Amino acid sequence: MVEILTTPHDARSWSRSRRSTGHSVGFVPTMGALHDGHATLVRRSISENRTTVVSIFVNPTQFDRGTDFTTYPRTEHDDIALCESLGVDAIYMPSVDVVYPAGSTTTVDPGPLAGVLEGAARPGHFAGVATVVVKLLTTCEPDTAYFGEKDLQQLAVVRRIVSDLDLPVSVVGVPTVREPDGLAMSSRNRRLSDDDRRAATCVARALFTVRDLVDAGERDAHVLRATMLSVLATEPRCRVDYAEIVDRTSFASVDTLEGDVSACVAAFFGDVRLIDNTSLSPL
Ligand code: AMP
Repeated sequence: MVEILTTPHDARSWSRSRRSTGHSVGFVPTMGALHDGHATLVRRSISENRTTVVSIFVNPTQFDRGTDFTTYPRTEHDDIALCESLGVDAIYMPSVDVVYPAGSTTTVDPGPLAGVLEGAARPGHFAGVATVVVKLLTTCEPDTAYFGEKDLQQLAVVRRIVSDLDLPVSVVGVPTVREPDGLAMSSRNRRLSDDDRRAATCVARALFTVRDLVDAGERDAHVLRATMLSVLATEPRCRVDYAEIVDRTSFASVDTLEGDVSACVAAFFGDVRLIDNTSLSPL
């Protein structure tokens, strides 16, 4: 039976009691509306740890658009059932008031990474992410925490803060899980209309097209970017937020393919904003 924990005190006690008996604790932070991408992170944690805790918390401070927060899918009942069926040991699902009690003002500033690409498109987003991740890690005290490469810049921000703040946790990145037609799984996909769901495959198509071009020898990032935009432009329902070829450390746009480089796309379909990326050099 999965244990439901709702306060930092209970989550910390749970984790400490497991660790005191020599059990490793794996941790998968989520915002719920769980899908097979989340399940893949959970399975990985279960395979590598004696115990696994999943957090489900829709973090208001990382939303830059109020309607995105209020319309974010919430499927608590199904999420608990899925965690239970996967063999999760505990779920930490605190309320907003528990995570941010009245009067709390401290935030974590992850530095320059927070101001580029996804951070530039969503002001304040990564400060919200960094703050909640630090709170969750210091509450659940895992040995290892699992994050998806789907949110590539988030993974980089998490690695940055764990290193900069000497947090005693290993961070594992897990490859993106996709639908059969290539669309990256996302909780927000549930909010797509049927037409937008069909149209949204252009994002993965744009990414895979440039990956093929790179495999065929193309090294000019401007050519690759123009190619992504032309693929995205074939779909009139797609409104591009950005389509960039970036360095995987700084997330700054590059001119040529040197070092660790990824293609990253953010695009709106109706009012639903999706992000996706692919590596153009080994991860
Ligand atoms: P979220 O609930 O969207 O905040 O995601 C929770 C975790 O699951 C994050 O580390 C995400 O990067 C990861 N994740 C979300 N979608 C996918 C996916 N399609 N494949 C792999 N990991 C994912």
